[in-house]
Amino acid sequence: MLYPNLSTNAAGHLCIAGIDACDLAATYGTPLYVLDEDRIREKCRIYVQAMQRYLPKGSYPLYAGKALCFRGIYPVVQSEGLGADVVSAGEIATALSAGFPASKLFFHGSNKTDAEIAYGVSQGVGHFVVDNTDELQALSREAQSRGITQRVLLRVTVGLDPHTLAAISTGKVDSQFGVPIETGQAERFVAEALQTPGVQVDGFHSHIGSQIFEASSFCDQIDRLLAFACDVRDKLGYVANTLNLGGGFAVPYVVSDETVDIDANIKAIAEHLAHGCEQADYPLPCILMEPGRSIVADAGVTLYSAGRIKTVEGYRSYVMVDGGMTDNPRYALYKSAYTVINASHACAPADFECTIAGRCCESGDRIAEDIRIARPERGDILAVLTTGAYNFAMSSNYNRVPRPALVMLHNGEARLAVRRQTIEDLLSLEI
Ligand SMILES: *Cc1c(COP(=O)(O)O)cnc(C)c1O
Repeated sequence: MLYPNLSTNAAGHLCIAGIDACDLAATYGTPLYVLDEDRIREKCRIYVQAMQRYLPKGSYPLYAGKALCFRGIYPVVQSEGLGADVVSAGEIATALSAGFPASKLFFHGSNKTDAEIAYGVSQGVGHFVVDNTDELQALSREAQSRGITQRVLLRVTVGLDPHTLAAISTGKVDSQFGVPIETGQAERFVAEALQTPGVQVDGFHSHIGSQIFEASSFCDQIDRLLAFACDVRDKLGYVANTLNLGGGFAVPYVVSDETVDIDANIKAIAEHLAHGCEQADYPLPCILMEPGRSIVADAGVTLYSAGRIKTVEGYRSYVMVDGGMTDNPRYALYKSAYTVINASHACAPADFECTIAGRCCESGDRIAEDIRIARPERGDILAVLTTGAYNFAMSSNYNRVPRPALVMLHNGEARLAVRRQTIEDLLSLEI
């Protein structure tokens, strides 16, 4: 099995954190998002402990809520000692409504509206990650009008192209995010921010992309950030006390993917940072990281019911499920690979080659192509693994399909955290 929290029982069913997946499907219906809270906690601890052990005092992880944002996630990450990064008024409100402290929120976004800036400041968001000079000035006006000083990090782009999908790579010079170092604009951005009333610059932020397997990408990022910080120190006399390295650690989606050793990577990053700072005689900054995917992805499993099974003779077989791109658009967007298990026959040989298609009127509505699972029958429960990140968060009502429910597993018990959307919910918005 891809993950240690998966097993099978005497009935031959797949179990997630010891709970029978077919029982979950029968109780809560399908499609169903299942989230193993204990696995999320384990991942949080790996980050918190490694960052405490290897990095300067005050370093800690922020959970990137955009990967999976609903109320129930915030008490979990908060109790594990994480801060959170938020990208909209909606994410701020979700975190606050769950009792998450505003002071531990970092507000991202390349195009925050004036209303969102006002909302963030009024709610006491601890840090804004300021993306550009327009935002800097809008934030300054808002902070001054309230008579406060807003703490900020400045987002810069280091000009790196990590080996990941173009759609999730963000550190290149030519990007809509942040201010580029290479063109000299980042230095002017810092100079301007240091002169701007109502804001206090605590340091810099950069995020190079997502689903990154190599520690070397993060080391390259540190080199460039540090070189920039030294330039800024030499020219402007400003020393950053915080560097935020963003998110991006990869998780395995299929058995051929590598598993990233997060602890070892953080250790390598810490050694690289310490060495770089020593060489440049730069005081060690606190490090923040913003893991999203690597905290929640492999804690999630989506359960579907198999419906029509169609064989096009001489071509392929399709197994159609009662969800698809509406609850998981990642195959349609990026051709992302997934592991699928017939949860009703989890001990049977996976010898039936098929393509898993969704229920939408759209040829691109697929979950996985040309994979092997135990031959299913109509009504079998299919489990798609590693769906904790960017599935619920990216779901839609395309084809007027209601969003699935989300169930959390903790200490051997399941509890409903988000109820299934109904057609009445959809109609209720319409006048
Ligand atoms: C998307 C994003 C993250 C989280 O990335 P993961 O790959 O999910 O870890 C963190 N920080 C920023 C700024 C992001 O845009």
